[in-house]
Amino acid sequence: MPRRLGQHFLRPASVERLLRVIDPREGDVFLEIGPGTGALTLPLAARAREVVAVELDASLAARLRERAPTNVRIVSGDALRVDLDALAPVGTRLVGNLPYYVSSPLLRRFLDLRPRLHDLHVMLQDEVARRVASPPGSREYGILSVFYALWADVDIPLRFPPGAFQPPPKVDSAVLRARFLLCPRAQVTDPERFERLVQTAFARRRRTLENNLQDSYPNLKEHLRLLKIEGRRRAETLSVVEFAQLANALSQ
Ligand code: SAM
Repeated sequence: MPRRLGQHFLRPASVERLLRVIDPREGDVFLEIGPGTGALTLPLAARAREVVAVELDASLAARLRERAPTNVRIVSGDALRVDLDALAPVGTRLVGNLPYYVSSPLLRRFLDLRPRLHDLHVMLQDEVARRVASPPGSREYGILSVFYALWADVDIPLRFPPGAFQPPPKVDSAVLRARFLLCPRAQVTDPERFERLVQTAFARRRRTLENNLQDSYPNLKEHLRLLKIEGRRRAETLSVVEFAQLANALSQ
């Protein structure tokens, strides 16, 4: 079994556990990242309206295309590059046992697809899933936690040991679930500036907010004072609402 491209295939019992959490319905349209040999693709297709799956490995894609029923479309390509918007009608449910070597950039990319997504269930390294689902104040809370908290309710409904896959990966795995909100959790006037602020605030985790931000935002101290946010705090203690307030104030 090839180990390249993050290929760790789900064992049947693991597929069953995952399907119970995804709970596919007759009218659902799924976008799957990395279908591999179809362990998840085929049972989803049996229960849902349609599955569109993006697979980078051309030989796996070709083999799956031969076996797949008519409501499955296999797209050959890199999920980091293909136009996912064109593959996802509004209301799409995103799923995948992700290739771990690109899980963080994929998670970032899924946020751009957010207006089209109903929800997302993806298998990740446990450590990465925890980084996205952690609340402020925890060691794992970071850039992706803030971005996802703005747009979704996030949790980890399942965890898997290495033996749940063939071949087993070196790390524990977890399913990250994001249910996208109709409105963001906080009003953000300029999403790009919001992202830049969060990234700059987390540039050096152990530094204070003021130290990380003062070079980029000359009027920082005044706005922190008006918003009653202590400059000595670290980025990892700020809620998404506080980040949004600060970004909006600094954009004025
Ligand atoms: N879904 C299958 C399963 O659970 O058994 C396979 C999951 S395996 C962890 C990851 C899959 O993603 C592999 O089939 C791999 O070829 C594919 N893959 C790797 N990099 C990719 C990329 N950049 N875009 C799309 N698919 C990719």
